[in-house]
Parts: sequence; structure tokens; C-alpha cells
Amino acid sequence: MNDKALDSQGEVVVRIAPSPTGNLHIGTARAALFNFLYAKKHGGKFLIRIEDTDKERSKKEFEENILKSFSWLGIESSEEVVRQSERGEIYKRYVDKLLEEGSAVEKDGAVIFSHEKERVTFEDLIRGEISFEEVPKEIVIMKSDGSPTYNFAVVVDDFEMGITHVIRGEDHISNTPRQIVLGEAIGAPKPLYAHIPLILAPDRSKLSKRHGAVSVLEYKDKGILPEALINYLALLGWNPGTDQEIFTLPNLIEEFDLSRVHKGGAIFDEKKLDWVNKEHMKLLPEEEKRALLLERIKDEPYMVGEPDLVKEKIIWKDTSREDTIRHLEQVLELIDEDGAIMKYAEDVGKGSVLWPLRYALSGSDVSPDPITLVSILGKEKSISRINNAIRVLKS
Ligand code: GLU
Repeated sequence: MNDKALDSQGEVVVRIAPSPTGNLHIGTARAALFNFLYAKKHGGKFLIRIEDTDKERSKKEFEENILKSFSWLGIESSEEVVRQSERGEIYKRYVDKLLEEGSAVEKDGAVIFSHEKERVTFEDLIRGEISFEEVPKEIVIMKSDGSPTYNFAVVVDDFEMGITHVIRGEDHISNTPRQIVLGEAIGAPKPLYAHIPLILAPDRSKLSKRHGAVSVLEYKDKGILPEALINYLALLGWNPGTDQEIFTLPNLIEEFDLSRVHKGGAIFDEKKLDWVNKEHMKLLPEEEKRALLLERIKDEPYMVGEPDLVKEKIIWKDTSREDTIRHLEQVLELIDEDGAIMKYAEDVGKGSVLWPLRYALSGSDVSPDPITLVSILGKEKSISRINNAIRVLKS
């Protein structure tokens, strides 16, 4: 347990501060999760702050996506969500104070802060001591349109919100010295920093859209459970020091430890995520599994209407037409018996039974497994579709 912070500062208060310039990226979701776990583990607070001062690029729809994604993941803010766009007065107050003290001046409408500090050093909870020999002597704190700059708003907000730990992506390390200097100028206590490694694509480049899904709700649409995504994101760059890989949220809160977060980038492995998802699926009650599946496939054509079948497609590999008909007729006999279809398929060759059955039911090359389909479509519809396939085969 990393208690250095606790001893010196009392209650832990952390935050995630996404900019609503895109849908919630899994990298930000992971940073949020690390903050959330840290707060919960230490009985502290986790806050969400929307950094929407960039009027050009910030969009309400992205903010909605971000908040929806967090609630889907079960990562909830301990207090009301804070929006930088609503805090103009607060930034102005701090700017005025620095102007009054003479450490900031107005130049062409923008406000510029200057300082004499040479070197800035901080102790990063993941990376150890980080030292910057040089910090720009002049830092713009307010733009000519009256909006605060990114670094200034972060510092004012972290102070006002009582943030004790700044846990964020390592792409922000370079901003840290400026933020430390500005923090000192406004009289804020220095938070503890923990910069977490970025999520990388398998080729070790920065994970981006060209590598596939990067936003949280895309995974929801693909049938990934929120608890599986949380579990997988926690494992990206962190391990509990044991072989355990499947965790529920309460497990993670219990086990999570910032000091076990790796320094190196973590490679995103979609196959591993699928495996974690399957493991979490197994933990779900049957009813819930069905409801989820139904939700996912409810708009598939075969859910809406009887499928059009292509004769050749009904037959599995080199099975004969006669055998395929026989198998489907046998399935009709067995449809009332629990587990009987599967047993029959195992006896005579899985593919030669399950393929035609699945295709008969869905008319599609991809669908859930046929036993699940029978239970979702119901007996009556299933029987009628199997009969239809037999009819097509005989024609
Ligand atoms: N708004 C920044 C971002 O979206 C985060 C700033 C911070 O965590 O300090 O990356």
C-alpha cells in the first residue's frame, strides 16, 4: 500500500479530467479506473472534471459520450461533475490576484505569468524522481479571449477541488513543471503525481483508431461486459503480483496498488480482452446472459423475419444432402430434450449437425451458437425454420 500520501495529506481526492474533443478513449478510461480504484481503496473521493475550455474542439455530444461511458463502466463521480466552461469567474479571480501581486502582466489582451525558478523536481509515485532543468520563464495563463490556458485551469481546479493525487497519462509529464510553478504561485499545496504508461498498439505505436475500436462504447456494442473491460484495463500496466487475472470491481479495489503499476507502455491485446470477457460471462446468471445476447442481436435480420436460405450453404463441408436432411429431422425429434441436440451432434460429428442448424435458424454465416438461437427464437419459430431448411434441401 502506498501510504506516503495518506500520512501527509489526510483524505485522498483524485480526479479524471477528460477533454470532450472525442468519445471516451480506453486510455482515459484506464486512467479514470486507476484514480477510482485508488480513491475507493483509501476511502477517498473520485471526481470528474470536464476540461471544455477549447471552444472550437469541445462538443456536448462528446461530453455525453464520456459521462455515459463512465456510468456504463460503473465509474461514478463522488460529487457533481465539474465543467471548466462554467468556472470563468474562478480563473479570473486567480488571474487578478497574480496581476495584483505583479507576477503576471497583461500583453496584447493575454495574461502572462513570469517566474525565476530554475529547476523543478518532483517525486512521481510510479516513475520515481523526475527533474526538469528548465521551465519556460513566461507562461501564458489567460488567452486574449479571456479563457484560461490549459495548464492554468488545471492548477486552479486541482487546488479548488482539493486534489491530493494527480494520476494521469505519462503524456502529461512535460506539463507538470509548469503546473508546479503555477501551483506555487497561487499558493496551492503540491499534489502527488503518478504518471501511468500509455496504452500501445501491438506494433508499439500509440493506440489509435486505425488499430480498431478505441472508444469505450464501441466495446459495449461488440458485446464486451463492463466488468470485463474494467478487469482488462486494470491489467494493462498493472498486476497484483500473483497469477490471478479475473477480478471483480471489489476485488480490484482491494488489490490495486499504484506502486505495482509498470513504467513501460502496455500493449493492448484484443484477444486477451475477449478471453477476460468470456470468463466474466461465465460468472453471469443464465438469465442475464440471455438478456444481454438478445439485446445485442435483436436487430439482426434473422430476429426480425424468416431467413432466405441458399441451398448449398445449408450443408456442412462434405456432408451429403441426405445426411444433412436426416440430421435436421433428428434435431426436430430432439428439440424438446435438454442437451439432446448437442449430444447427438457430438455423436455424429458436430459440424454436420450444428452448421446446418445454425444456418437454418439464422440464414447467416455469423450468429450465436444454434442451441442458444433455439432458446432465443423459441421452439415454434425454430421448428418452422428447420422445416423450411429441410424443404429447401429437398427441392
Ligand atoms: N484534459 C487532459 C486530457 O484530456 C487531462 C489533464 C490532466 O489530467 O491533468 O488529457
